[in-house]
Amino acid sequence: MSDFDFYSHDRIKENSEQAFRRIRRVHNKIPDTRGCMENINKEGGCGAWCCLLQNPQVLYSEFLYTWKYIVKEFSVDEIINVIERAIRNYIAGDVIKGCMFFNKESRMCTVHPARPYACRYYGITPKGEFEKRLAATKKQFPDAEEGEIRDQCGLVSTLNGRKVRQKEMDKNWTTLINVEKFLGIPEKQINDGPGGSYRTYHDHVLLKNMPNEVLIELQTIRLLKNEEEKEKAVEAFMKEFRERIYGKPNKESKST
Ligand code: SF4
Ligand code: SF4
Repeated sequence: MSDFDFYSHDRIKENSEQAFRRIRRVHNKIPDTRGCMENINKEGGCGAWCCLLQNPQVLYSEFLYTWKYIVKEFSVDEIINVIERAIRNYIAGDVIKGCMFFNKESRMCTVHPARPYACRYYGITPKGEFEKRLAATKKQFPDAEEGEIRDQCGLVSTLNGRKVRQKEMDKNWTTLINVEKFLGIPEKQINDGPGGSYRTYHDHVLLKNMPNEVLIELQTIRLLKNEEEKEKAVEAFMKEFRERIYGKPNKESKST
C-alpha cells in the first residue's frame, strides 16, 4: 500500500491543467526526429520493434497527460479495449511484451501526440546515458529472453542533425520530476519501486480506473493455475464490465 494515494487525490485534479502546460513545454523542447516513418514499413525495415518489444515507464503526470488525450480522442469501445489490455497484461504477469498503445495493424503509436519523455528521446539519447539505462533494465529483468532487451535503435536522428546533449535531457527530466512534485506526489514515491509513481502504462491504467476491490479480484484471477481458467475469468470479468457501462443486452423475446 502506498503512503499517498495519488490516483485519487484532489490536488491532482485541481492542478492537472497547469501540470499539462508544463509537460507540453518540455515536449516542445525535445527535438523532432526522422527515421521511423522511413523504416517502419520498408521491406527489411525495423517493423517498429521498439514499440512491439518495449514497454515504457512513465511518471504519473505523464500518464495523466496521455490519459487526457485518450479520453478526448478514443471512442468508449477503444477505452474499454485499453483497460482490457491492461488487465490481460496484469493477469499474464509478463512485463516485457510491448507497448499497449502500439497498433499492430497500422504499425503506429495511437497516442503519438501525447507519448512520454522516454519515447520522445528514444533513438537520440546520448550513447553513454543509454548504456546506463540498458544495464539497469537488464538488471531489473534478469529473466528477459534473448533479444527482448536491445540496444538503442540506430535509425533515428534529430530533424536538424543536431546531437542531443546529456545536460538538456537532464534538465527536461528535472522539470518533469518537478511537475510530479507539484501534483503533490512525495519525493520518496517518485521511483519505480512498489507504490512508486514511475510505472508502466499498464499499471497506471489499472490503478487509475479500478477500485481496490476490483484489483483484489484481478489478483485472484492472476493466481489461478492454468491459462484456460484465466481466460474464462477475464472474459467473464470483461463481459460484466461492458454491461456495467453499456447495460445488459436485451434478451431475445421467447415465442409462446
Ligand atoms: S525507433 Fe527505430 S525501431 Fe523504433 S520505429 Fe523508429 S526506426 Fe523503427
Ligand atoms: S507510447 Fe507510442 S511511441 Fe511510445 S512505446 Fe508506446 S506505441 Fe511506441
